[in-house]
Amino acid sequence: MILDTGSNFLIHTEKNENIVFEYGFFTLSVCNIDFDKTNRCLKQYLKQGANISNAVAQSFNSIYLSWEQTEVLVNMISEEIHNNIEDGIATVDGIIPPLYRFKNYHMHLRKLLLRDSTAFTSDIQRELDSVVISQSIVMLDDGLAVSGYYLNTIEDFLLLDIQKYLFSSHIVKECDYCKRLFIPKRRSDKYCRLPNLEKLTCNELAHRNRNKTDFERIRDKARPEQRASLINVSTIKKYDEIILQDMYQDWSDECGIQFKKFKTNDDLAGFEKWVIRTKYTSERIKKEYAKREKHKNNDNP
Ligand SMILES: [Zn+2]
Repeated sequence: MILDTGSNFLIHTEKNENIVFEYGFFTLSVCNIDFDKTNRCLKQYLKQGANISNAVAQSFNSIYLSWEQTEVLVNMISEEIHNNIEDGIATVDGIIPPLYRFKNYHMHLRKLLLRDSTAFTSDIQRELDSVVISQSIVMLDDGLAVSGYYLNTIEDFLLLDIQKYLFSSHIVKECDYCKRLFIPKRRSDKYCRLPNLEKLTCNELAHRNRNKTDFERIRDKARPEQRASLINVSTIKKYDEIILQDMYQDWSDECGIQFKKFKTNDDLAGFEKWVIRTKYTSERIKKEYAKREKHKNNDNP
């Protein structure tokens, strides 16, 4: 059961604590989940019989939820998955709750948060409109009466969350750079302040990208790609990681030299060709690695 005080939700936990949820923050966090990645990850965990709470916990990395709030949600979702398994649902797909199973549902939540009017007349909304959630009046210790809702599924919570959010004056926007949803400080904000891998804000990243030359764009795309094909889970199983690191470093240094050379000659196509020609395929990794290993052995007899 979840309580609605009129300004936020309260969930009473097994540890006897009341955890507060602001309207819309759960849905917002669900919308910022990498849907495809999480869907794949959950299926894999279920097939392997691994601890599903870990997969669910990994899916939430929003700054809009505290650690305590995330824990409550992870418990609720994991419990629902376990109940589905106990109910004898045979397929992996059937066990996964809709928020992680249907991409069109995920996209629908997004549209609702953005107050996109087309969402309200869609088929999926008509289905959601028919969901009935039982409620009652709950009297708190201090004599305050609040609404109590009985949740059957995690989708019931999403439904309430989005309803209360829509009736509030809050707004959510889509970041112009990373496309994640965020709550703007000012209505004119175009970029979010959510964390990025590169430790720069989306505003800074967008600015940097605008000012890049075509040469820089090719180089800055090629470096992480080359690194990823050289050093990843499957290559470090097969090869010595230090040699792989060296291979990347040498290529990256050479890339810097070629960048300057082609730029001086204003030969963008030439630089592009060089990048494609030196791309590390599994065949090239094998050859280059064998060469380096031989060298190493010759150096240390
Ligand atoms: Zn962003």
